[in-house]
Amino acid sequence: MDLTIDPDELATCVSCGLCLPHCPTFRATGEEALSPRGRIAAMRSVQLDGAPADDSFVEFMSSCVQCRGCEPACPSGVPFGHLMEATRSALATQGRIAPWWQRAGFRVLAHHRLLLAGSTVLAAGQRLRLVPSRLGLSRLPLRRPKALRGTGTDVWLFTGCVMDAWLRDVHVATARVLQGIGVTYAVPGAGGGCCGALHVHAGLTAETERLARNVMASMPGDAPIVVNSAGCGAALKDYGHLLGTDEAKAFAARVLDVHEFVARRADRLTPVRRLAPVIVQDPCHLRHVQRTHLAVRTVLGRVADVVELDDDGLCCGAGGAYSALEPELAGQIRERKLASIARAGGAEGERVVASANPGCAMHLQAVGVEVRHPMQLVAEALG
Ligand code: SF4
Ligand code: SF4
Repeated sequence: MDLTIDPDELATCVSCGLCLPHCPTFRATGEEALSPRGRIAAMRSVQLDGAPADDSFVEFMSSCVQCRGCEPACPSGVPFGHLMEATRSALATQGRIAPWWQRAGFRVLAHHRLLLAGSTVLAAGQRLRLVPSRLGLSRLPLRRPKALRGTGTDVWLFTGCVMDAWLRDVHVATARVLQGIGVTYAVPGAGGGCCGALHVHAGLTAETERLARNVMASMPGDAPIVVNSAGCGAALKDYGHLLGTDEAKAFAARVLDVHEFVARRADRLTPVRRLAPVIVQDPCHLRHVQRTHLAVRTVLGRVADVVELDDDGLCCGAGGAYSALEPELAGQIRERKLASIARAGGAEGERVVASANPGCAMHLQAVGVEVRHPMQLVAEALG
């Protein structure tokens, strides 16, 4: 089976194993097949040696969180994310992954009014205990603040789909911080909702490309595009690779994680009070993919002392839809993160955890950890 992986990229792995300690699924299971090296060996067997893409192969690929913690650890620069995306795309095309119900659920993400209505129904279902806890959802809001309205044209503030439906208060806080540093923002036009981050993880490449074109059309011009969800920011920054056009590359170059943007103007933040120390949790798509996690410390440091975790940025197990699709492994991976949070003094909620990604926040909140977005904390300190 042709996995459509670039053979040059597939050849870069020298099987040294330095990535293994940074892989959450290997750490949780100890199985070589569930490590980056094991997965690359399986990809080579299928693509180059004609081995069958059997159920075991599908399981090895499906169990990957796509955290890309293996990438910065790799001395050969193996682009593991691209290998996995190509593999999943080939498997999805053959109907081996991403079942119909997952595809139907993802389709809703591109229809924002439907998503808002469905989210309210889901929130009501949670109150009536009709939503299975194995879905791992944190408590969704029954009511949400009014949708953001633009204040000017300095930047585009990307509002997304799930982020806007479930965590709109983070957008309100982000708007407050932008106001605090004297920056005006516009919100995306029609079609600028879903960025396709979950779709690309599921191997739904054609749908991701369609969404990417819509998002690009919704934020024309040259203004920077500021994103407050690490997963969405990583997806938008990858549009150049995804679509391969000059237009997409120029668009991707305008994208900044909000902490990157605010950190460059951090001296303009004038908090009215200092907050209690905050534990910072690095979303994988900020630390391993965008590699902009230090900016969170610059920004948070203006309003509170930052407490570091001691797990070297190991994934928390959220992985977009991963926690719902692979709940057992996601739970095992989360246990390590919870232990690290406990060592940092956040086990009983005595210290707040700051996370810049909705998936991580909800995955940790689902087991009672108090998590807030860094923008919410900064906005609170601004008063
Ligand atoms: S992306 Fe994450 S889970 Fe997948 S192989 Fe790399 S480190 Fe392991
Ligand atoms: S992916 Fe990189 S670190 Fe991991 S085994 Fe291959 S060359 Fe070594």
